[in-house]
Amino acid sequence: MTTDAEIARAAVLRPIAEIGARAGLPADALYRYGPYKAKVSFDAQEALPERRGRLVLVTAISPTPAGEGKTTTTIGLGDALNRIGRRTIICLREPSLGPCFGLKGGANGGGRAQVVPQDEINLHLTGDFHALTAANNLLAAMIDNQVYWGNPLGLDPSRVTWRRALDMNDRALRDVVVGLGGNGAVRQDGFDLTVASETMAVFCLAASLGDLHERLGRMVIGQDFARADVRADAVKATGAMTALLRDAFQPNLVQTIDGSPALVHGGPFANIAHGCNSVVATDLGLRLADYVVTEAGFGADLGAEKFFDIKCRAAGLSPAVAVVVATVRALKMHGGVAKPDLGAPDAAAVRRGAANLRRHVENVRKFGVPVVVAINHFTADTEAELAEVFACCADLGVGAHLCRHWAEGGAGAADLAEAVAALADGGTARFAPLYPDALPLADKIDTVAREIYRADGVALSPTAVRKLARFEAAGHGHLPVCMAKTPYSFSADPAALGAPSGFTLPVRDVRLSAGAGFVVALCGDIVTMPGLPRRPAAETIHVDASGVIQGLF
Ligand code: ADP
Ligand code: MG
Repeated sequence: MTTDAEIARAAVLRPIAEIGARAGLPADALYRYGPYKAKVSFDAQEALPERRGRLVLVTAISPTPAGEGKTTTTIGLGDALNRIGRRTIICLREPSLGPCFGLKGGANGGGRAQVVPQDEINLHLTGDFHALTAANNLLAAMIDNQVYWGNPLGLDPSRVTWRRALDMNDRALRDVVVGLGGNGAVRQDGFDLTVASETMAVFCLAASLGDLHERLGRMVIGQDFARADVRADAVKATGAMTALLRDAFQPNLVQTIDGSPALVHGGPFANIAHGCNSVVATDLGLRLADYVVTEAGFGADLGAEKFFDIKCRAAGLSPAVAVVVATVRALKMHGGVAKPDLGAPDAAAVRRGAANLRRHVENVRKFGVPVVVAINHFTADTEAELAEVFACCADLGVGAHLCRHWAEGGAGAADLAEAVAALADGGTARFAPLYPDALPLADKIDTVAREIYRADGVALSPTAVRKLARFEAAGHGHLPVCMAKTPYSFSADPAALGAPSGFTLPVRDVRLSAGAGFVVALCGDIVTMPGLPRRPAAETIHVDASGVIQGLF
């Protein structure tokens, strides 16, 4: 069997200047990191005409633990659009080292639909996450430092909410005590994965360097002894944080195996943050290309909803089409088949599980965006099972296309590309977010729960009620909500697959991300610093005698 890494290594890469030229960028717009990676300079971006491309979102049914191939399909669709003569740029998130060394392996697509160089993209790319980690921890250091030097801000050390960050799954650092040894106020602290930090969310939603600086300044880092919020700008760290982030903030250009330009930039978590690539990269793509294909994390209940309600709202983006990725094996799981039994054909289970696909398609339509379904083909899929997916889509009046980009590259997604281009060019999208800014925060949560999850209602904990009132009193009531919920179910119960109904959505707590510009609603337990599994993927990664990295999958 050929692995993703082997396929990626066999690819013939073109010099990055050639990919830049293909994207419409002159050589002097590129700041090169080796032969195959470059950052695109702000000057070049600012000199480009206004956004003109059509924005295509790739989202999915509720995922199974393996992932349903959104990244793979985003890349395959981008390649296919270029093949049929539509100038297309792909926009993706940067992989985090956490999942890379943990369970999931790389996040650069799969099969013949990958962005390359695979090893460099999955490990450090151009160092953005290191810069983000440094910026995040500079603020942490300056917070404790000002307490050490007499605490002029009157910050209550027991109410510091700003946490340190690291791009490494390390459960031992979830909760730590800092300040021991007479080195300042002893207090409980903790580490989040860099991608789960508000620094990352801010980085991905900022429209410009100036906006980045302002958003960093608005972040709330804790409370003073009078219980008033203290913002990062009071700590005077945000100028230096912006300096650390200046270069990282420029989008990274790489290529797909097929030679399509791809911007891989930023990578916020899809639970306590919004889960899409940076606004600056999407903006750059839309200035350069006729079509921009981008991915939102998790299923459409979380990923697409937050893409529309948070990213598109904040950045003034207007998506033209949404692609909902479905796989037969995931629909079988939604139809009640257990993971070990997925190998056996079961068209009836696909029919039952299609209720999940149906609901996601209906949901995306609520945002006024036309939908097409991409059936990501796996070799074990049977004709009878595929027929069930087509039947469900026909019933919904939504186009469905069997896609073989994983096996064949862009050529395998030509039908999907034709359909996407036709829908995008048709101009039928009437995008609008689900709720207006002016709606009270609790009602925003209620709207998402009822309209998207199909809950009967929301059960806010007393803490959540109290904090929402406090956020509104402090002038944050206009912000959108960022739902942090299990991706596996429409409900907060990860075991309730398919299309559950008759449930209440529990909201345990809420958090203000004033810099990112949203209020997080925590529905269930959310881990912001994952642990490594019993057998981490890292155990099998090494560099061979010829200097090639082996074991990244
Ligand atoms: P997502 O973005 O939805 O999390 P990915 O695109 O990263 O999913 O794919 C998850 C994994 O599944 C990758 O290892 C990829 O190689 C594999 N995969 C995706 N599509 C297929 C397919 N059609 N056949 C076999 N494996 C696939
Ligand atoms: Mg993905």
